[in-house]
Amino acid sequence: MKLLMLGTGSAAVTNCYNTCFALIADDGRPMLVDAGGGNGILKQLERAALPLVDIHDMFITHTHTDHILGAVWIVRMVAQSIYGGKYSGTFTVRGHDEAIAALRTICFATLPVKVTCHIDKEIRLVPVADGEHFEAIGCDFTAFDICSTKAKQYGFAMQMPGGNDDERVVCLGDEPFNERCRCYAEGAKWLLSEAFCLYSQRERFKPYEKHHSTALDAGKLADSLSVRNLVLYHTEDKTLATRREKYTAEAATHFSGNIIVPDDLEQIEL
Ligand SMILES: [Zn+2]
Repeated sequence: MKLLMLGTGSAAVTNCYNTCFALIADDGRPMLVDAGGGNGILKQLERAALPLVDIHDMFITHTHTDHILGAVWIVRMVAQSIYGGKYSGTFTVRGHDEAIAALRTICFATLPVKVTCHIDKEIRLVPVADGEHFEAIGCDFTAFDICSTKAKQYGFAMQMPGGNDDERVVCLGDEPFNERCRCYAEGAKWLLSEAFCLYSQRERFKPYEKHHSTALDAGKLADSLSVRNLVLYHTEDKTLATRREKYTAEAATHFSGNIIVPDDLEQIEL
């Protein structure tokens, strides 16, 4: 399986795209996770050579603009492909009840009837509950509440096909870890965690005021959860030139496993 990072930035970035990604099964089937804040997702998909007509599954973590608004564009373009005769099968978007309700409201408020008439037909908006399992791209996913103090947010644990229980990819969304989620994340093969900035630059970027964490915090967390691989995303975009090197070094002060700080469009072999 592969992880294709379509964006790696936090909400207000201008030098990279907002954090969103695709998990791509060995047979090529992708599941999109969030879509950034607008139609820039279409450019990212184009640059990654990921055809929209291949996307049949999507997961939305929460309703914040930098995650959900790109999904409106995905719905629009999928519908356009459906009525253009280029898209076959169904497109399923999953998320918690509030995220799915928000997506539905925004779609009906902003998209033409020729698009919205496909919602609840070929385009399915499906709420999932905390702890609920669902199947997508041939994998078992468990959605879970990350216990955000801001907007309700779900992450997920994806069981890789044919693997043991620890062959898991766990997405913790874009907020600091809550101990309640330890059962999903502990011992995972891959942990996807936010790291807004370096701890050494906390005075400059104020991660804690924004309810985000740092590369150092993510390294400590990865160590405490005994994961094997750590991917850091949802960062500030003022230090992109040195981000990989410096974030990796800082997380490595507490975590001895593999650390990846990807750039936009980077592909990671899971
Ligand atoms: Zn965000």
